[in-house]
Amino acid sequence: MSKINVSILGVTGSIGRQTIEVVKNLPNVSICAIAAGTDRAGLEELAKIARPKRAILYADEGMDGLIKCATMPEADIVINAVVGSVGLKPTLAAIAAKKHVALANKETLVAAGDLVMQAARENNVEIRPIDSEHSAIWQCLKGQTPKRLILTASGGAFRDWEKERITTATPKDALQHPNWTMGAKITIDSATMMNKGLEYIEAHHLFNMPYKKIDILVHPQSVVHSMVEFEDGAVLAQMASPDMGQPIQYALTAPIHRKKSHTPLDLLKVKALTFEEPDYERFPCLSLAMQAAQIGGTMPAMMNAVNEILVASFLDGRIGFYDISRLIEKAMGAYTVKQLRSLSDVEEAEVFAKEFCSKEL
Ligand code: MG
Repeated sequence: MSKINVSILGVTGSIGRQTIEVVKNLPNVSICAIAAGTDRAGLEELAKIARPKRAILYADEGMDGLIKCATMPEADIVINAVVGSVGLKPTLAAIAAKKHVALANKETLVAAGDLVMQAARENNVEIRPIDSEHSAIWQCLKGQTPKRLILTASGGAFRDWEKERITTATPKDALQHPNWTMGAKITIDSATMMNKGLEYIEAHHLFNMPYKKIDILVHPQSVVHSMVEFEDGAVLAQMASPDMGQPIQYALTAPIHRKKSHTPLDLLKVKALTFEEPDYERFPCLSLAMQAAQIGGTMPAMMNAVNEILVASFLDGRIGFYDISRLIEKAMGAYTVKQLRSLSDVEEAEVFAKEFCSKEL
């Protein structure tokens, strides 16, 4: 086993903390740098455990600090677990510095998937998914070309709710995810099903699959984390108890499934695995994200930026649940899409999103 050094961006979040736990059980992996957003106490606590060479607080050091952490000369792999589109620049910096990137920050690929994947090819580095669905697909593919991908979705907190009831949903309701414990932003994205829309775009970029070859199935048990169909009709599924530790560890040990303490998957307890068509009427964010994906260019970046602002507003109690999809649709209608050629195109799309939201909120 060769020694590897990792940098962790977003270390105080749910994925960051689980990464520290995973690394404790991997004797060949050391942590050389960690970065957090604003949680100073959390950063200090984790620095004592991980003993990195460098610990950076984004609130103090800004984007330069994140980029330093992402480009540490010692680092072999950068784990990007920051929340939202702030993850894009450090990802590109890590790639340019020839680091492999283990990506939990799906917004990076949503906003600028073409730029990121092209940079990864040019620099001969891997983008390894940490998102459980994409990790599942990666674990099934083992380098082969599939006929289609089948992304599974838990359906989020409101899978069983009538539309009228969802209309009155509070942040507290939306934060009750049935199967996974995650950060607030992604849990709200799960409740709106925007999360699956973002993952649809993420899968397209990671696996170079046309959108028409990516299907979405609601699977309430969250046991099958996603599937791959091959040309001969074989469908491979990856199953595990819902625990992000597995995809995090696989991103560090692939293609080996290394020993790890885990809750065994007990299919006799689960009994039935069920699948449903997504309900695009109750969850309009999913179809909006799919539309943004088809439109392409800077539309996904703009949509993603508007969604980030609206989710924060919903969490603050300033807008209702369906205002998120209503305003995303309005923003997409008002936006003139551009080709995505460089980071500045992404930044312009984000400026439009901010201006649109400041007028509407
Ligand atoms: Mg996921």
